[in-house]
Amino acid sequence: MTFAELGLHDTLLKTLIESGYTEPTDVQAQAIPAALEKRDLMVSSQTGSGKTAAFMLPALHHLATQERRPFVPPLRRTPNQERQSARARGKERPRFQTAFPRVLVLAPTRELALQVTAATDKYAHEIRHLKAVAILGGMPYPKQMELLARNPEILVATPGRLIDHMESGKIDFSELQMLVLDEADRMLDMGFIDDIEKIVAATPESRQTMLFSATLDGAVGQIARRITRDALLIQVAASHAKHENIEQRLHFVDDLSHKNRLLDHLLRDAAIDQAVVFTATKRDADTLTDRLNIAGFNAAALHGDMHQGARNRTLTALRRGQVRILVATDVAARGIDVPTITHVINYDLPKFAEDYVHRIGRTGRAGRNGLAISLVNHAEHFSVRKIERFTKQTIPVETVAGHEPTRPMPNRSTRPNGAPNNRPPRKPNGQRGQRTFSNESHGKQNDRHESRSPRQEGFAQDANSFANTPRRDDGFSARNGRPAAAAANNRGNRKW
Ligand code: AMP
Repeated sequence: MTFAELGLHDTLLKTLIESGYTEPTDVQAQAIPAALEKRDLMVSSQTGSGKTAAFMLPALHHLATQERRPFVPPLRRTPNQERQSARARGKERPRFQTAFPRVLVLAPTRELALQVTAATDKYAHEIRHLKAVAILGGMPYPKQMELLARNPEILVATPGRLIDHMESGKIDFSELQMLVLDEADRMLDMGFIDDIEKIVAATPESRQTMLFSATLDGAVGQIARRITRDALLIQVAASHAKHENIEQRLHFVDDLSHKNRLLDHLLRDAAIDQAVVFTATKRDADTLTDRLNIAGFNAAALHGDMHQGARNRTLTALRRGQVRILVATDVAARGIDVPTITHVINYDLPKFAEDYVHRIGRTGRAGRNGLAISLVNHAEHFSVRKIERFTKQTIPVETVAGHEPTRPMPNRSTRPNGAPNNRPPRKPNGQRGQRTFSNESHGKQNDRHESRSPRQEGFAQDANSFANTPRRDDGFSARNGRPAAAAANNRGNRKW
């Protein structure tokens, strides 16, 4: 299948060839023909699947084939000048010109919205007089009024800021033809449901609606059905979601200082072009960035406490290759699309298994290969299980010579379908018994984890005595077969 066979406008085909897109991705091949017929779509797909082009190419195709809109003269003065002259006339409010967009894309984060705008500019390169504008929280209002006064055909926006402009009459959706909700699940997670409802209610019934989301279950499925009409359901094959081009690894660490030493060692790997290191908190991101810079790495932080200007500067520096290591939190890094990111390192594990998938998807972009490494202390083994159950993939454990953990590694036996088994085996009477560490399961483990240290192999051999030990301080409570962290949580928080 080629882009030409999908029926796209010639100007777009030219740009796609220049961009090196030889053939449509799965989601593009399924979504573009239906979108060109103006059908509504509900698409379950992941970032990295090429979903931006899946909605933006049909949008641009429609705009390119329509009559050009009548020329609206731009504001002769900047909003600042307007404000000054308004003040001089004794009025406080500057004048503005209302924008009448034809395509609206809603995105959960500023980063994703900027990325969609950049992709739109790229795809619309050959279409004359077409304007795409990003309307985002954190951007100065006068600047945004200036952008809106150009009456752009395409608006890419985060919901909160868009509502502000809508309510003050700067945006009118009466001419809107297409509404796209990108990463709708994330928008709902971030509490944008009321804003989305308000925005949808302000758009014409006749619009075409496309909703993209990692999942179409639960609340997101309900809203998808409510705002679309006779939508085509597209579910992209799981291979993208599985991130098959991304190698995953797990390193056990004894404590924070071991983790830092191992991180520094991994970051010295010459194979790293650029890396994203994820931390649990904004403060940790700043602290780690400072430490890495002192240690001689070229690192920058990205998190939600930074001003928009600083975030944009960091992302631009990352794209230009001026930053080698980005230390980021989940929300800030979501949607980052920089093909030269070769490595993702989970310095801290994410709170939710789903975020793990989003994190590792920062590497392996545009069909390249990537490596995702998680640094895990023994008490976090339970969280690893959750991630493995969610992804239905086992993350192989590796060690680095000279940086092996001194504590024995937890048992990591799996069920035959590849989903990790964290439940004790059933007794003949059907009840669950204690977790025991048999030689057989260790035999399997040895097959899978080829690079384990001799010390860990030693543990595997004498682990038979483990089941009889009342309590060990290595991440598992042998008495009830649960990870010690979970048991510790019942006793109160244990910090390592
Ligand atoms: P997305 O899922 O929209 O974030 O896209 C992920 C990456 O894939 C971006 O870097 C796009 O430029 C790239 N991409 C999208 N479609 C294609 C295609 N058909 N061929 C090659 N690369 C693509």
